[in-house]
Amino acid sequence: MAWFSKRQTLKAPPEGSKAAGPVPAKKGEGLWTKCPGCGAVVYTEEWEAAWNVCPSCGHHDALPARRRLEMVLDPKSFEELDTEIVPEDPLGFSDSKKYKDRLKSTRKATGLRDAFISGVGTIAGRPVSVGTFAFEFMGGSMGSVVGEKVTRVIDRAYERRCPCIVFSSTGGARMQEGIFSLMQMAKTSAALARFRHVRQPYVSVMLHPTTGGVAASFAWLGDVVIAEPKALIGFAGPRVIEQTIREKLPPGFQRSEFLLEKGMIDAIVPRPEMRERLAQLISLLGS
Ligand SMILES: [Zn+2]
Repeated sequence: MAWFSKRQTLKAPPEGSKAAGPVPAKKGEGLWTKCPGCGAVVYTEEWEAAWNVCPSCGHHDALPARRRLEMVLDPKSFEELDTEIVPEDPLGFSDSKKYKDRLKSTRKATGLRDAFISGVGTIAGRPVSVGTFAFEFMGGSMGSVVGEKVTRVIDRAYERRCPCIVFSSTGGARMQEGIFSLMQMAKTSAALARFRHVRQPYVSVMLHPTTGGVAASFAWLGDVVIAEPKALIGFAGPRVIEQTIREKLPPGFQRSEFLLEKGMIDAIVPRPEMRERLAQLISLLGS
């Protein structure tokens, strides 16, 4: 079908070619964005206006956490909370770099305090308690601060009797905090058990990728679990599973489409429809 498409997209020339045309290197940094999915070269402005979704192939590229909130919430409705909690280094952990130094440099590079942004806002005029992982901060790993923030998002929804929405994009527990990271799975799950009593919906949105301890706790405990197209979702990675069970995994294993077919998630929602679908869900299920 793509052969007949009249959409005008520019293909990047092969590596090292001298093809004339508006390729990124000729026009200055950042003016063009090359789609990692199909190689189409798109104006960065157009790319960002489409929330980092390729207009040619529909590839969903990573979207910074703040942009995601901007995309789904009513304009200027977001109030960020829990900004006072910052991670400590309870184990004095060090790998190739000290955990403390890693935090410091990541904070400087991303402008974020940790891998989660939490607060309250409205969607189509309805109040929601909302939080999103920031994959750009240490792979969205969940340490004690991220776990505390997720718990607060759920607790705030409990106190305010409003719907709760969490966007997950994470590699799982933060190994630098060891057991303190692992206990966040129980803590967030317990908060959700309490939230059940207020009979408001908890919508979990799984983004690419959602793995490890986050997938194994609150991300999969949503009343409604939705995912973006082709997101990698699972507990352990495919290579680890293949080595453990000594079997070849089926194609598309652990991707949204496969999980939907097997009944593990409720819906796949493309990014441009996300805001509308969330508004529908909280209006149908909220009170
Ligand atoms: Zn593309």
